[in-house]
Amino acid sequence: MVYDSAIIGTGAAGISAALNLKVHEKNFIWIGSKELSSKISKAERIFNYPGLPGVSGEELCRAFLAQIKEMDIAITERMVTSVLPMNGHYVLMAGADFYEAETVILATGTAAVHTLPGEQELLGQGVSYCATCDGGLYRGRTVAVICGSARFEHEARYLAQLAADVYYLPQYRMERTFEQENITIVSGKAAEILGGERVSGVRLDDGSILKADGVFCLRDSIAPGTLFSDLKMENGHIAVDRSMAASLPGVYAAGDCTGRPYQYAKAVGEGNIAAHSVIEYLEA
Ligand SMILES: Cc1cc2nc3c(=O)[nH]c(=O)nc-3n(C[C@H](O)[C@H](O)[C@H](O)COP(=O)(O)OP(=O)(O)OC[C@H]3O[C@@H](n4cnc5c(N)ncnc54)[C@H](O)[C@@H]3O)c2cc1C
Repeated sequence: MVYDSAIIGTGAAGISAALNLKVHEKNFIWIGSKELSSKISKAERIFNYPGLPGVSGEELCRAFLAQIKEMDIAITERMVTSVLPMNGHYVLMAGADFYEAETVILATGTAAVHTLPGEQELLGQGVSYCATCDGGLYRGRTVAVICGSARFEHEARYLAQLAADVYYLPQYRMERTFEQENITIVSGKAAEILGGERVSGVRLDDGSILKADGVFCLRDSIAPGTLFSDLKMENGHIAVDRSMAASLPGVYAAGDCTGRPYQYAKAVGEGNIAAHSVIEYLEA
């Protein structure tokens, strides 16, 4: 099935886009997290969102979730790892699954994802963003997992079923450990991904080196420039016009990923515009 649209991201911008596409009865898929966005739930108090003075992030998150449920909008809990143009529409790769859509709304949050030295150079040569897609390449071998969120711990468990050894580098405060004996939790920050033709390991900020055949970088977002191979960027953000159109036909962007100010109200407004632009594009 080819959807009318695919929204990537479940923050304020994605929510606004989804509500508007739903109101206009478009057939769309919405990919992200069922917990929406940590940038909503973690805000202590929000004083500049119209109509809800001093609302806490948790309260706002609950209100958004209730509205999504009330409007019967589903979230597909996946991480999109790449988007490819194909015969006038787009194919979104997410783990072992793929989805096809006429249009794409990128609502992925701050675009300036910090990548490690060596990461871009070795992408596809041992660096991967998706355990489900590439785990099978490391059967019986050693991998390192640089993980930005507890949300992806299951990916390390999956890798441990295939690889001989897994070095797990949590770049967040870990609250529980793994039951599998072949996972070694390594404290310290990853500083560089090492390798020549292919990955050879990871250098930590204390100078120590972990040897690995593959490195999985699992984060809450992937830089849009990595998602799409030829999307025009400006100062680390997706370049858009006033209709929120990005540089590829049928691709729109909204929220923090298009630039400052990083604010809920801007994200909601841009999500709204992007959805309406998608509707016009489909009609044209
Ligand atoms: C602690 C804190 C307090 C804040 N307080 C305020 C405030 O008081 N007022 C204000 O206006 N703003 C505030 N902000 C800023 C506000 O949170 C952001 O501007 C807003 O969340 C941007 O929304 P967004 O939808 O663009 O992105 P985000 O909220 O970052 O959402 C993006 C979502 O997309 C998902 N995603 C990204 N890439 C992919 C992918 N490849 N596949 C699937 N999903 C993906 C992410 O996991 C995330 O869930 C605060 C931010 C923080 C961190």
